[in-house]
Amino acid sequence: MNVRESEAVEALLLAAGHERVAGEEDAELVIVNSCTVRQKAEEKALGKAGNLLAAGKITGVMGCAVKRLGADIFRRLGSLHFAVGPRRFSEIPSIVEKIISVPASVRPRRIADFGDNEVPSGLGAHPVRKPTGTFADVQSFVTVMIGCDNRCSYCIVPDVRGHEWCRPAEEIIAEVKCLASRGVKEVCLLGQSVLSYKDGSFAFPDLLREVQKIDGISRIRFTSAHPSGCTDALIAAYRDCDKVCRHLHLPVQSGSDRVLAQMGRRYTAEEYLSAVAKMRALDPEFSVTTDVIVGYPGESEEDFEMTRALMEKALFDNAFIFKYSPRPGTKSAQLPDDVPTGEKERRNQILLADQERRGVERNSRLVGTVRSVLVEGPSKRNAQRWSGRDSGNRIVAFEPPAGISVGDMLEVRITEAHAQVLIGEVV
Ligand code: SF4
Repeated sequence: MNVRESEAVEALLLAAGHERVAGEEDAELVIVNSCTVRQKAEEKALGKAGNLLAAGKITGVMGCAVKRLGADIFRRLGSLHFAVGPRRFSEIPSIVEKIISVPASVRPRRIADFGDNEVPSGLGAHPVRKPTGTFADVQSFVTVMIGCDNRCSYCIVPDVRGHEWCRPAEEIIAEVKCLASRGVKEVCLLGQSVLSYKDGSFAFPDLLREVQKIDGISRIRFTSAHPSGCTDALIAAYRDCDKVCRHLHLPVQSGSDRVLAQMGRRYTAEEYLSAVAKMRALDPEFSVTTDVIVGYPGESEEDFEMTRALMEKALFDNAFIFKYSPRPGTKSAQLPDDVPTGEKERRNQILLADQERRGVERNSRLVGTVRSVLVEGPSKRNAQRWSGRDSGNRIVAFEPPAGISVGDMLEVRITEAHAQVLIGEVV
């Protein structure tokens, strides 16, 4: 979401006559887009802004940390030029104008627009750039909704991003058509809880069906999903829309019903597993990935073992494991953070090792099969290879045939499987 919003701000500033430079050393103005989902991310953003101010740059901070800190951000960064909340980024060009239209000696500082639950604008702005020869030319994020009405006990997102707000469907469809006309082949529909999308009676599965019809788009992805959205209508849309990738990132967070209830997740382990089973009934190779929190307040060894067992049953293709850290202002921050750091680390390592083994097992089933791969470019790990992703979002690396281009769709026979990557040869 932050990548997408940075891009929208870039587009708005370019439209206002500003220019993009190669690096921050050459810039007069730098905007730091901040995240507050973890304390470390927030510290990093504020530290970066402090360094930019010290280097004499006109500096602004946008995003979630601004909303969480409010006026406190100016206590941390007294000489900051501006701070803009996540729903107010479209105001940045006019704020910048205010700052640069006066001599440097009298430039205003501490301009604030924290915003609240207002309807955001500028969500559809995309910069028109010269082709870069990278995957950014053929893949694009498209925001379909922002905010979240789930109140998961550990999560700061509803406080900083506000209530759910969905963009009108025709605006989203027009944006995807425009991107397709510029050569985009893959879109990723974004929202904090994207399956809750609604425009009147037009729901997320209807949106998938409309995007499916757009010529030029060959792949549709979306994130992030809450298990409550895994309805029969979603399964039917998957079944009927071949452009919708066979991958779902479905955060589970815990395998213990007691912990899930405390987290306010509104599903049981069994309900979660039945959502996964529905996806795999469509296609046994349907890729399911997840997020897990270890060390939530009160998480016992038994709770943890339930998480382990659920992960084994769900046969996740990949999993991101997070050690619980309390965020001020959330419900769970009032509970004692009573799982010792060392124990969180131990649980983290166990789940990572399990997933490593499971990832190899899952991927080994694909050896000998042919996967359709959308080419992303030269592999970052091996200069001899290029890589791309299959529909299940698995990274596939291969030796490039002559004349290959970013955005090509290739058929690749898998010859080798690792936990995080498949190796193959173009057929
Ligand atoms: S659904 Fe996701 S974004 Fe919404 S409150 Fe829960 S964890 Fe946070």
